[in-house]
Amino acid sequence: MISRSPNVVIVMARCSRSRNTFGIRFEEKDNGQWLADWAFAIKETKARKEGYGRSEIAGAIGFDLAYPGCPYCRATSLFKCSCGQVACWDRERNTVTCPWCGSTGELSGSFRSLSGGSDL
Ligand SMILES: [Zn+2]
Ligand SMILES: [Zn+2]
Repeated sequence: MISRSPNVVIVMARCSRSRNTFGIRFEEKDNGQWLADWAFAIKETKARKEGYGRSEIAGAIGFDLAYPGCPYCRATSLFKCSCGQVACWDRERNTVTCPWCGSTGELSGSFRSLSGGSDL
């Protein structure tokens, strides 16, 4: 039996409401899709020490059924700002304010930009 260690990346995000940071665990599936399956509250300083948020993920992105949502406000999706940072998104508001850089904008295609390609 060959066991392949899963390709796992932790992406740093920030809560749109509380502005607290959290990490999102993405795992690459056999078909090349990245699925978010866990989110956990973490301090920005600790995340830096662990080296989280350095890697970019490319390809199709989706959410595992187990994905618990933002650890602060339970928002079940994410958006990526033009500043390159990721924040939680409740799938309802189309006008969002980035908790990292403070810019407000209209969302187009929710998660698309993080994947750099395929639509969900
Ligand atoms: Zn949130
Ligand atoms: Zn931003």
